[in-house]
Amino acid sequence: MAKKIIKRSWAEPFKIKVVEPIKMTTREYREKCAKEAGYNTFLLKSADVYIDLLTDSGTNAMSDYQWAGMMIGDEAYAGSRNFYYLWDNVKKYYGMPYFVPTHQGRAAEHLISKIMIKPGDYIPGNMYFTTTRLHQELAGGTFVDVIIDEAHIPQNKHPFKGNVDLQKLEDLIKKVGAKKIPYVSIAGPVNMAGGQPISMQNLKEVSKLCDKYGIKLWFDATRATENAYFIKVREKGYENKSIALILKEMCSYFDGLWVSAKKDLMVNIGGFLATRNKKVYEEARNMVVVYEGLHTYGGLAGRDMEAMARGIEEMVEFDNIKARVGQVEYCGKQLEKYGIPMVYPFGGHAIFLDAKKFLPHLRQDVFPAQALANEIYVDSGVRGMERGIVSAGRDPKTGQHRYPKLELVRLTFPRRVYTQAHIDVMVESIATVFQNRKQIKGLKMVYEPKYLRFFQARFSKL
Ligand SMILES: *Cc1c(COP(=O)(O)O)cnc(C)c1O
Repeated sequence: MAKKIIKRSWAEPFKIKVVEPIKMTTREYREKCAKEAGYNTFLLKSADVYIDLLTDSGTNAMSDYQWAGMMIGDEAYAGSRNFYYLWDNVKKYYGMPYFVPTHQGRAAEHLISKIMIKPGDYIPGNMYFTTTRLHQELAGGTFVDVIIDEAHIPQNKHPFKGNVDLQKLEDLIKKVGAKKIPYVSIAGPVNMAGGQPISMQNLKEVSKLCDKYGIKLWFDATRATENAYFIKVREKGYENKSIALILKEMCSYFDGLWVSAKKDLMVNIGGFLATRNKKVYEEARNMVVVYEGLHTYGGLAGRDMEAMARGIEEMVEFDNIKARVGQVEYCGKQLEKYGIPMVYPFGGHAIFLDAKKFLPHLRQDVFPAQALANEIYVDSGVRGMERGIVSAGRDPKTGQHRYPKLELVRLTFPRRVYTQAHIDVMVESIATVFQNRKQIKGLKMVYEPKYLRFFQARFSKL
């Protein structure tokens, strides 16, 4: 008799030591909560959420090694030993000699935008990120999207949808002149495109083009280890290289980078700016004192810097990053069985539902992704978020809504937090909402804050 082929699965490289209880509520109760929150999942109380996939930002489970580090926080105002340990690890893993801590990623974006950008400048990038672009605009710059066209098409399966279209970039340089471009802003992977990576090959080419015109290259390295993972499993020549080596090679093409440590570094708060440019460093080190705190803590406690330093060591472990990306992929494959429209390939940190295809009967200006995120919450207490017209905001020149091609609901996975059973519950809820999708109505925006409106906007049902 032929031997049956037995599938061999993988599992997370950790076990659970501390648990936090969560509670399922009734549909009736959640309907009331959604209404009170102005149909914005950002305004829900966490206690009313069952499975929280709002974001992977600061929502991660720290390891026992990180928690142990919290106990040896050196809370001196100046020169904390945790600061020096973190700096050593930034040098070792990102390859940047200079380093300034900040309380989170957007604080580093604030510093770098203020230092580099003059009013009237242009900042090309591989698709915008909400806080990144806002700080570029507040400094007087105009963001220009130079990502490849494939990134705007949800079903396109290009393995590196975060790549820069070199022709678009060179056309912009020729049009406005290299002097008007202080730096090219690269993210890897690209959050707003669905967590899509940039290839090492493309990065090399962008770097060459920047060198040719004397333009600097800066890196939003917030989820760079996820990008390194995709390079390892998708790009020829990298299959035998470690995540740490790939990360360091990626960083070698940049003049500097900023990081929200609340993602890759698996902590609850923190960020930093790192660079090989001494002049930029000296300005950032001076400015951080005005906005964040002394340059040896940047708005953080010593214990937080210790947890960050230890998080860097854990984030580059292959089994860790494989389990993280693998969980997202598992979720995508389960949703696929129900024919749920999604962004492909599955991202590193999240599954993105294609709300335009999910709710074809809703026009974009009645906020289909916002409405869908709400329906999912009401069905099962699963909290996702809108990444579409609300997140895109208004054009500062015309005051009109920006109409992004991608109208998405993001279901983001905190690192080391949920089990496969949680994912199954979430998948079945989305499948139920999909079955009843024709009854879902659009929304009207009744309150709109000036900046980053998706965080605080309120809606009513149409
Ligand atoms: C989260 C994030 C930021 C901003 O960082 P915060 O820590 O939330 O201020 C910047 N860029 C990307 C790609 C992010 O995901």
